[in-house]
Amino acid sequence: MCAKGLLQLKNIRLRNTLSALNVLRTHDMLSRVELAQELHCPGTAVTRITRDLIEKGILATAGLSESNGGRPREQIKLVADWKKAVGIELSPHRITGILTDLKGRILVREEVFLSEQLGIEEFVHSMELVARRLLDACEEEKLLGVGIATFGPFSGESRILGNVAAFPALDYFDIRKFFEDNFALTVQIADATYARALHEIWFNHAPERGSFLLFDAGAGIGCATVFDGQIVFGKYSNVGEIGHTIYKIDGELCPCGKKGCLETLCSIRIIEQKARALKKSKKLKFAEIARNYSSGEDDFRKIIEDCAHWLGLAIANQINFLIPDRVILTGEMLQLGERFCQKVNESIDEYVFPAFRQEITISKSDAWRESAALGAASLFVRKVFEDTKCLEEISAS
Ligand SMILES: [Zn+2]
Repeated sequence: MCAKGLLQLKNIRLRNTLSALNVLRTHDMLSRVELAQELHCPGTAVTRITRDLIEKGILATAGLSESNGGRPREQIKLVADWKKAVGIELSPHRITGILTDLKGRILVREEVFLSEQLGIEEFVHSMELVARRLLDACEEEKLLGVGIATFGPFSGESRILGNVAAFPALDYFDIRKFFEDNFALTVQIADATYARALHEIWFNHAPERGSFLLFDAGAGIGCATVFDGQIVFGKYSNVGEIGHTIYKIDGELCPCGKKGCLETLCSIRIIEQKARALKKSKKLKFAEIARNYSSGEDDFRKIIEDCAHWLGLAIANQINFLIPDRVILTGEMLQLGERFCQKVNESIDEYVFPAFRQEITISKSDAWRESAALGAASLFVRKVFEDTKCLEEISAS
């Protein structure tokens, strides 16, 4: 019997297998010699690991490398569609779902746009439709699981939504129970901003060292803080509600019940509300407003640039507070184009502590439409590469 705390031989072998899989996850293909170099281990160990994984179908050979004088070497690659995962993002305007392989490549994509003033029935029906289509497209034995990225804060450990300012009909909706009752599936649930940060870490291979802030600007404003590949979160895995921090004392009433929240100054809802009042049109949609502004028209310039100003101020405040290495701007508001991003940058320049500005890279992630769904799917995908027990179980099945 092994003493408590000591690694058993089997566990060491599984750990080494995970290390090899993780190297191959971030490369197209490698020879065994190159893999051994990456892992700093003898070639014999790599031969044993790869032989086992090829037998299980997780790795495959991929022809011979180009010869540069020496003997051509056999290439090894990860079989990316060995397992798959479903990720679904719930937002007040749309439900977007994807079926992904182990490398984050989207195999199937489903999207339903939601009408305004929708009730819980339409929302639930659309979610079920997207989930069913994606699950039908995946071979049962390949499915790792279903991850859900959602807006609105969680009210407890069970991740039941609570106080959903952008969509009060969803208050106390139990997503997990819905999937258990209708699909006999246990889902994993994450906040949408948290999921977008996961996407950056897991599928976009954000550097393992250093820090970044991810600003998610859309129906609301979210901000995830990441240090050395770890997302900072609070109770019930919430990344915080920066959108409901007060930016204007006694300002406009926010759906959360407070006055002057950041989201009353910068959000898709507020842009639509002001643009509709300006044009006296109740049907004007954000997509139309964004097309107009990003093509250089000035119809909504003041409204949008006010919004950019507040967003830039919020980003500058967070930079001053945390001094990260990078800031990533993402979310539905990126439909406003380069012109909007430039205004956000000008506002950051105006408010950030001068000594910090030079040090920080600000970039945007155009993958906002699928990044939350991919991040939710990564909750399952990463288990193949991180969890020895999971790897053992699924490769035995
Ligand atoms: Zn609020």
